[in-house]
Amino acid sequence: MEKKSIAVLGATGSIGTQALEVIRAHPDRFTVYALTAGSNADLLIAQALEFRPSVVVIADPDKYKQVQTALAGTAINVLAGNEALEEVVQHTGVDTVLCALVGSVGLRSTLAAIEAGKTIALANKETLVVAGALVMDLAARKGARILPVDSEHSAIFQCLAGEQAQQVDKIYLTASGGPFRGKRRADLNAVTAEQALRHPNWVMGAKITIDSASLMNKGLEVIEAKWLFNLDVSQIDVVVHPQSIVHSLVQFKDGSIKAQLGLPDMKLPIQYALTYPDRVENAFPRFDFTDFSTLTFEPVDRVTFRNLELAYRALATAGNMPCILNAANEVVVAAFLKGETGFLAMSDVIEETLAAVTFMQQPTLADYESTDQQSRIIARELVTKSRKIYHIEK
Ligand code: NAD
Ligand code: MG
Repeated sequence: MEKKSIAVLGATGSIGTQALEVIRAHPDRFTVYALTAGSNADLLIAQALEFRPSVVVIADPDKYKQVQTALAGTAINVLAGNEALEEVVQHTGVDTVLCALVGSVGLRSTLAAIEAGKTIALANKETLVVAGALVMDLAARKGARILPVDSEHSAIFQCLAGEQAQQVDKIYLTASGGPFRGKRRADLNAVTAEQALRHPNWVMGAKITIDSASLMNKGLEVIEAKWLFNLDVSQIDVVVHPQSIVHSLVQFKDGSIKAQLGLPDMKLPIQYALTYPDRVENAFPRFDFTDFSTLTFEPVDRVTFRNLELAYRALATAGNMPCILNAANEVVVAAFLKGETGFLAMSDVIEETLAAVTFMQQPTLADYESTDQQSRIIARELVTKSRKIYHIEK
């Protein structure tokens, strides 16, 4: 069997490290062409020494020397800065690019990989939220396959295998509800980042964990699903399923529903994206019915978790609205993690940013990038204002 050569963007993160577990478990199937990290030089070095990629990229230029010195004497080429990613992903030695950066910073390297016709294993949902139309259009023109890594989208993708797109009635994305499921707005006024970081079912990077607590993650996933599966916004529904066993569902025209189940373990959707269309044996823990006698479902509370409502609205308006939503969200989540804004204030800032930034119906890449920058500036100003209000309330 010919080995698949993988470039792992964001190798030191939650998805990146789990992807390397999958790759480590299947040395007969995979080789690593490139590993990249933001600033975690120590882990990147350790990973490079184990997986022996051709190239590593460290985004933080201050860490370049450290990585370079540690890998001197190996055949590994060390590069710095995110511009290098765009070149690395296009190399002829790469088959599949696993995009596991967090945030809109992942857009350019994903586009570069698509441009080169690579297969994309896409974890970086923000790429599709920001510029879904552009990304999917380029992928169609270049014949680049985009395979979902996000568990819900992997579930939908698996349910659609062997089906015809026009026979889908709607999809249901499942949401665990996060640590604040069942809470009301009054309960959430004073919650801290520490409380929000305690996700009941998944261990993930900090940004997506806050997004899960605020349900922005589900909002981003609604937008991601629209683009991956070419659906109308009216065909995408969300249902709360606290056990995170049913990863999502597809309802067909005849009323039949297919679901995909498994333990909440990202290694499964990561592996499926890397081995697709093959299903490959592994030693990961398996779902056991005796551990879960009850699986429950409940409606989602879009009043308390207003971010989901905002995401639906941004998607319905389309254009650069989802890009504004994403940029504002990245700003407020970073601020919330630092204790600079309140949990509920995050939605206020996002809503005000959506209203403040100039709307564009059919943005180009340059328009998306300027929208992203403009939205961040406005959201930061609003955070500073909200901070004053937040401190008075406390
Ligand atoms: P993480 O924060 O754990 O890891 C992010 C990775 O990107 C790290 O390797 C980091 O070094 C790198 N990075 C961060 N900022 C960077 C920058 N400015 N330049 C270059 N590299 C940078 O995040 P994660 O939880 O692994 O999530 C990655 C993506 O996958 C996100 O888009 C997230 O929404 C999505 N996702 C994650 C999970 C999960 O279980 N963690 C599940 C579904 C989807
Ligand atoms: Mg998900």
